[in-house]
Amino acid sequence: MPKADLHSHIDGSVPFRELSRIARENHREMKTRGGNVLGNANAFFGFVRGEGYHTLLSEIVDRFYPILGLMQTEETIREVGRTYVKGLKEDGIVYAEGRFAPHYHTAEGMTQADVIESMLEGLKAGCEETGVQANLIVAFGREAGIGLAEEAVSQALRYEGRGVVGIDIGGKEEGNPPEKFQSAFKLTFESKLRRTAHAGEGAGSVDQSLRNIRNSIILLRADRIGHAVNLANDRALISLVLERGVALEMNPVSNLTLHHIHSLRELGLDRLISSGVAVSVNSDDPAIWPNGSLSENFVAVCSVYNFGLEEVDTLISNSFSAAFASNEEKETLREEYRRARSRLKS
Ligand SMILES: [Zn+2]
Repeated sequence: MPKADLHSHIDGSVPFRELSRIARENHREMKTRGGNVLGNANAFFGFVRGEGYHTLLSEIVDRFYPILGLMQTEETIREVGRTYVKGLKEDGIVYAEGRFAPHYHTAEGMTQADVIESMLEGLKAGCEETGVQANLIVAFGREAGIGLAEEAVSQALRYEGRGVVGIDIGGKEEGNPPEKFQSAFKLTFESKLRRTAHAGEGAGSVDQSLRNIRNSIILLRADRIGHAVNLANDRALISLVLERGVALEMNPVSNLTLHHIHSLRELGLDRLISSGVAVSVNSDDPAIWPNGSLSENFVAVCSVYNFGLEEVDTLISNSFSAAFASNEEKETLREEYRRARSRLKS
């Protein structure tokens, strides 16, 4: 089915074999921060999601270092962007909002602007080759601090209308509540850029998760929330989400893999759908999690919740509606889905 992925990290979406091709073509190696070369898939996955991987969120920069370390030049960033879009096509994704944090790619002298521009070029090349539509969300990692966050958002504003559609806050959630980053988000309040925030993923406690979701909506004026793992159990917060028209980007396989939940049922997707919350299913880091593609996320959710086509229609329709795309673009996506859906009926 033609579908949209609103929450995928570009650096976690390119398969290892493609990353190693890009490294080879650019005479680089994929290494840990300590300098160990990760020359094959076993070594790579043994490091990225090896022992203790479920704490990945709090050490994301170290675990992703082999990928971030590769993406330090215009050429490698462009090629990662192009390859990301080709991967979307393979999974039947017709529209995506890929995200990445430019400040992780400045270690060899690129500016955040250079980094964003290279990624936009790569995405554009991928879109031209595949016919997939991909926009960019400029993210920043909480552990980078407010200075780099404000810089990332300022650069994102410069590329509004030129492929950048929104901003995002991610990284280590525990100890880094959204209120710390209000000034960065505030920079976009008078702009056309849209806002999403990782919240309620790994906040340390259920109470803090719920507080982070609430404060991301109220203080950061988030249009969408990524994860919101405990939301289904809080009626007052669901009311706020509905009242503000906030959409949810849920990432079931990622949450399960990182032990933020023990069963997909804990996400309460059925209750959220019946409450009218605009919930969508997304991949997060499809090249990192086992069985992590968007299609596999749908298969996992449908089998656990016993969802059929009706719920799939709702989830996909929600992702089209919540996209940071123009109304015309959304209508094109809906039409493409309707066509595929009618073929399926017959
Ligand atoms: Zn994420």
